[in-house]
Amino acid sequence: MGKTKSSGESVAVRQVEPRADERTPLRLRVTAAVESILRAGHPWLYAESIRRQNRTGETGDLAVVYDRNDRFLAVGLFDPGSAIRVRVLHTGKPRAIDRTFWHQRLEDAVRIRRRLFDELTTGFRLINGESDGLPGLVLDRYDQTLVLKIYTASWLPWLDTVLHAVQAQLASQRIVLRLSRNIQQLPGPHSARHDGQVLLGAPLSGPVNFLETGLSFEADVQRGQKTGFFLDQRENRRRIETLAQGRSVLNAFSFSGGFSVYAARGGARSVLDIDISAHALASVERNFALNRRDTRVSGCRQERLKADAFEWLESSRSVKYGLIILDPPSLARRETERAGAIQAYARLASLGIRHLAPGGILLACSCSAHVSEAEFFGAVRGAATGHMAGYSEIGVAGQPPDHPASFLEAKYLKAICLGFK
Ligand code: SAH
Repeated sequence: MGKTKSSGESVAVRQVEPRADERTPLRLRVTAAVESILRAGHPWLYAESIRRQNRTGETGDLAVVYDRNDRFLAVGLFDPGSAIRVRVLHTGKPRAIDRTFWHQRLEDAVRIRRRLFDELTTGFRLINGESDGLPGLVLDRYDQTLVLKIYTASWLPWLDTVLHAVQAQLASQRIVLRLSRNIQQLPGPHSARHDGQVLLGAPLSGPVNFLETGLSFEADVQRGQKTGFFLDQRENRRRIETLAQGRSVLNAFSFSGGFSVYAARGGARSVLDIDISAHALASVERNFALNRRDTRVSGCRQERLKADAFEWLESSRSVKYGLIILDPPSLARRETERAGAIQAYARLASLGIRHLAPGGILLACSCSAHVSEAEFFGAVRGAATGHMAGYSEIGVAGQPPDHPASFLEAKYLKAICLGFK
């Protein structure tokens, strides 16, 4: 660690920014209602809930919240540029946010994952932000490459500290930094950082490969959506594999074809991937090629179509499929879009069902945190009831165990699988 390279890519590990742990923590007071919320373990403190603050505070400062009796309540990372002003690291008894703290948090997260995966799965989430006690920070593993994605600038002054902890425990060959959309323009001391930067290890010339339940996939860790792959859909992909035998499959909003490769291994006759992005479809082709040694994958007819899936489903009436997967991007990015999104999910499910052959199966997914499980499942069931003589429910699912959700706002993924007569 701390290595520098004349070629430039690894310099970012150096201690170039002000050390946030050396500044005196901010002292905050909050409203009575919020005291209870924080005490109960909710990890977000919104700006409007702060009653008093002893100084302005800089991005990444530690902020200590005291209760009305002057007792320690919580400590977190301060972000003056975000409505979520403090993301809580720890509540309960006072404790130092030191090297031991970071190592402990990481160790806990890593231990849980060790139990979950064998050597046939080398791509999974190691840290899921708040729900692993590291709010706004995600760490995904793709074989020997780790991708560290931050969703708040308050992590920037702590990056070296985090990298040391990560390397001490995981000793990966490469670490790539990803920045969420809201923090692409970085202020002064952090201007050397950029999205997709290789913080440690050899530069990359393209996607990296990894295994998921024995299948090979590529992940564009520097530019791809999320950290390069939708690791959160693994369990749903496995379900699709078990249902695909002999079926013709339509994978709408396919991204890099994860569901399709599983369907092919499960014995699907054919798969059509539809995505609006040519880049995603090119990745589908490569992911099929990576698995062609499996005769079921190489024997499955694979087609790709660059199209708006909503429009395609509306306009193409004739062709029917035995298995349809609908996994659109989030349809409600904010609370005000919630009602519209529920209607759109119902409409989409209804269009999907129209394209099912008799005996067909539908898997409908939602990744909108603003739409609840009950609302989404209700929308899909409603569409199913309206369309066919009968269906039975094969199952529902939430987030996989490497994407734990410790509070309501962290729950975003939902899937429902229906089998029709
Ligand atoms: N099911 C995928 C993840 C889907 S992410 C997996 O398991 O890997 C959503 C995808 O929808 C993205 O690839 C995005 O390019 C695509 N997309 C967004 N809007 C679309 C539209 N209107 N029509 C088709 N695809 C769309």
